[in-house]
Amino acid sequence: MRAKPKLAVYWTGGCGGCDVSFLELGPSLLDVLSRVEIVFWPALVDTKRADLESLPPRSIAVTLVNGTLRTEENVEMVHLLREKSELLVAFGACAHLGGVPGLANLASREEILRQVTGDGFQPAPPPGGDAADAPPELLPQARPLSAEVAVDYVVPGCPPMPSLIGPFFDALLSGDLPAPGHVFAQDQALCKECPRTREDRKLTRVVRPHEIVPEPTQCLLDQGMVCLGPVTRGGCGAACPKAAMPCTGCVGPTPEAGDPALAMIAALGSLVRAGDEGPAAFEAEDKILNALVDPLGTFYKYSLPAYVRARRAR
Ligand code: SF4
Ligand code: SF4
Ligand code: SF4
Repeated sequence: MRAKPKLAVYWTGGCGGCDVSFLELGPSLLDVLSRVEIVFWPALVDTKRADLESLPPRSIAVTLVNGTLRTEENVEMVHLLREKSELLVAFGACAHLGGVPGLANLASREEILRQVTGDGFQPAPPPGGDAADAPPELLPQARPLSAEVAVDYVVPGCPPMPSLIGPFFDALLSGDLPAPGHVFAQDQALCKECPRTREDRKLTRVVRPHEIVPEPTQCLLDQGMVCLGPVTRGGCGAACPKAAMPCTGCVGPTPEAGDPALAMIAALGSLVRAGDEGPAAFEAEDKILNALVDPLGTFYKYSLPAYVRARRAR
């Protein structure tokens, strides 16, 4: 009988939602689990780092890493997992692009610690304390998985939805994987699969989701909500716009869009000007875009570490 492929799942700086997301596969999760051998998955089975260290190099068929890289221990563990794995997958927005915890890059490590612990915080073990009891050192900034190790595939989303996890396992278990580098989502924009009607209407104001009750069939962007559908990969079935909430971009930008903030600002600008390139149109554009609350958190909600690196993004 052919040996089952060995599977590992590891959680770095994340919320745990990605680990739970496998349950969304429903009964087909049982089929997946019956066809793999779990060798390391701290949230599910009692395996320790020493068990992982004892495995031969590249003996794990595939490792799924979720979470952003935030501590030195995270970095050590992903290097160890890379060494032990044939394939390494960035699973979820945090591993893919830095994720929501990556917004902490807007503050320095010291500012974060002081905010959490107050003015008396100790960045190192107290004098006379045991260094072995110290928590792992925080990295200066959160980083996506690919900033540290080679990543073979991406299963995106916050967390990844069954429509993206399912095709990954289908490909893995059938032995029919695409070329390395593949992102298990659509290359085309979410708007293509959104049931709302988009007419690229002239934008005269920007509203937040709690400020209006949107019309049920019309595009949310046409109604003034900042919906990132035009610059975000499809694949989730437009889950948020179907529920009257704008897309916040968790699957990541399309290859065509690239940097989601630059692409979305360009899209909003052209909707505000609606073809008018006169000074009054640019003035109106400034006024409307300046009314945006939390532009960095809006445009880079899941991707700040991937697009704004090694500098304070104030
Ligand atoms: Fe949590 Fe989302 Fe990050 Fe997954 S991608 S660990 S669900 S914050
Ligand atoms: Fe695109 Fe969002 Fe409009 Fe849907 S609601 S068509 S995803 S911009
Ligand atoms: Fe993520 Fe956007 Fe899909 Fe919502 S609509 S699940 S934010 S990609």
